[in-house]
Amino acid sequence: MALSRGAVLFFKLLACLLWLFELSHGKKQFPLKNLPPLRKASSYPTGCPATYDYIVIGGGTAGCPLAATLSLKYKVLLLERGGSPYGNRNVSYMENFHIGLLNMAPDSAAQAFISTDGVINARARVLGGGTCINAGFYSRASSSFIQQVGWDEELVNKSFPWVEEKIVQWPKIAPWQAALRDGLLQAGVAPFNGYTYDHVSGTKVGGTIFDETGYRHTAADLLAAGDPNNLRVLLHASVHRIVFDSRQGCLKPRAIGVQFTDENGGHHQAFLNNKKDSEIIVSAGAIGTPQLLLLSGIGPKNHLKSHNIPVVLHNKYVGKGMADNPMNSIFIPTRSPPRQSLIETVGITEEGVFIEASSGFGQSSESVHCHHGIMSAEVWHQSLAYQFQVAQFFHKLHITL
Ligand SMILES: Cc1cc2nc3c(=O)[nH]c(=O)nc-3n(C[C@H](O)[C@H](O)[C@H](O)COP(=O)(O)OP(=O)(O)OC[C@H]3O[C@@H](n4cnc5c(N)ncnc54)[C@H](O)[C@@H]3O)c2cc1C
Repeated sequence: MALSRGAVLFFKLLACLLWLFELSHGKKQFPLKNLPPLRKASSYPTGCPATYDYIVIGGGTAGCPLAATLSLKYKVLLLERGGSPYGNRNVSYMENFHIGLLNMAPDSAAQAFISTDGVINARARVLGGGTCINAGFYSRASSSFIQQVGWDEELVNKSFPWVEEKIVQWPKIAPWQAALRDGLLQAGVAPFNGYTYDHVSGTKVGGTIFDETGYRHTAADLLAAGDPNNLRVLLHASVHRIVFDSRQGCLKPRAIGVQFTDENGGHHQAFLNNKKDSEIIVSAGAIGTPQLLLLSGIGPKNHLKSHNIPVVLHNKYVGKGMADNPMNSIFIPTRSPPRQSLIETVGITEEGVFIEASSGFGQSSESVHCHHGIMSAEVWHQSLAYQFQVAQFFHKLHITL
């Protein structure tokens, strides 16, 4: 049936609008149409007979790309304790970066906490993990770091472009970031290495996961590179224990499944299949990973016994030696608010000191609206305490406007 001229015009207009919408969301659009369905954990049937080649615990910066790539060949279950980043304006827009970190609602994407030595901090609780709450700066790992941790350098170098093509952009340098670049060079943090993802001494402009409209692209987007038929993603799935097969006769306890709760507190279990190479991968972050191992009986035996946790495997290192990057901050008040920017320009000295800066503050009208008492942005902005608190809070930021 031939279409009328009006209908053809309508479809052309629609295509044009869609194209403009794509453009308005950044120059590079990695197609998300292949995203697997993001289902709530309560949808997981009790006594579900399905088994998996891999169960990935924690759908964060590491967990999402891992689950996606594994799903190209294997059956994968990805369990994330937080919700979806899509449609969450605190996550998606750069202007809500600060307010999102201060949101203390029990279901917020950033979970605030205070370390035992009194430092205010936040960790991710959302699909996409830290890439949904962080300052979005992207850099490749240095060659010396890759060697130090014993990774396969060739494989690592092949993996960088896979991520870069999908979610990393070059920033459109903000005025404050240009000023920082010039200042660093004047101060002798040389040479100027231009735009580069490489971790090299001197001053450079690195990648960012915010596009030019300030829209944040996250590790959750990388799930679209997987095979949706092989990848099952559950949100609000908090894993409480890894289940081990430690029957008599087994030399080593073998992880065979997980126990998790859903958003209503309902209990579920999921299991690996019997294949020799099936694995449970714990990518629950620097805090969540050792926490889960300890809850599952892997850690220093005396510590486990003091919490009445049956010991599955004694390992004196689990949960020990935690450290964050120490930071010194300088705050520069301005007469008029500068354009907001997060990390774009960085200086890396020969001694390995990392110098970076952000500027401005924003909050969109649809973002969280609640008063956070002493943690509120208003109080922070007006008080000296603000400077002290922020200095501790943003461990990575060295200079903040
Ligand atoms: C404020 C801030 C700014 C930062 N800025 C930058 C930056 O600009 N550039 C940069 O490179 N790095 C930055 N970082 C650091 C970076 O974000 C982290 O190093 C990185 O995200 C860690 O990745 P991960 O996969 O180890 O953990 P995460 O990305 O945190 O993923 C762990 C996931 O596991 C989930 N999880 C935890 N426990 C469980 C459980 N029991 N069951 C199910 N799921 C669970 C969590 O909800 C989370 O989604 C910043 C960090 C912060 C806090």
